[in-house]
Amino acid sequence: MELTFECPECRAVGRVKNADSATEFVCQSCQYKRQAKAGSVTPEGVCHCPYCGTEKLYIQKDFPQGLGVTIVVAGFAWATYYWYYVRPLAAYAVLMGSALLDLILWKKVSDVAMCYRCLGQMRGPDVKPLGRFEPFDLEVGETFRQERMRVAELKERQTQSVKH
Ligand SMILES: [Zn+2]
Ligand SMILES: [Zn+2]
Repeated sequence: MELTFECPECRAVGRVKNADSATEFVCQSCQYKRQAKAGSVTPEGVCHCPYCGTEKLYIQKDFPQGLGVTIVVAGFAWATYYWYYVRPLAAYAVLMGSALLDLILWKKVSDVAMCYRCLGQMRGPDVKPLGRFEPFDLEVGETFRQERMRVAELKERQTQSVKH
């Protein structure tokens, strides 16, 4: 399983290929180290985030945001072109084609498991989140977002008190 994580110290993004067997994660830009949470992958698939250990994960398609929209918009523009030259059949074909392409891409694209707490992304065949994790839940996401804000605030205060 591959893990993409954000360094909590310097916000640099790191990537580790075999995150489930790693013992620690080291930030490439500031050398900040964090002990890996062992046993993140069971035979059933990923069970917790190897970076922060939380079991609150959600799944989403590993689909670049906006790509699906681009395909549909491009298809629509193309169809309009045919429509303009009075070729309605070709216009329909293009519209159908772009919708189909969108669907095929959607099915082909694999799932990525995301950590609510540290926003780490887990990829690979052993993620297997199907039916085990839900898509993003706004309420859970908000709880963790506020937690992150509190942590950031606390850190800010600590650095300020060190300076004084
Ligand atoms: Zn760092
Ligand atoms: Zn995490």
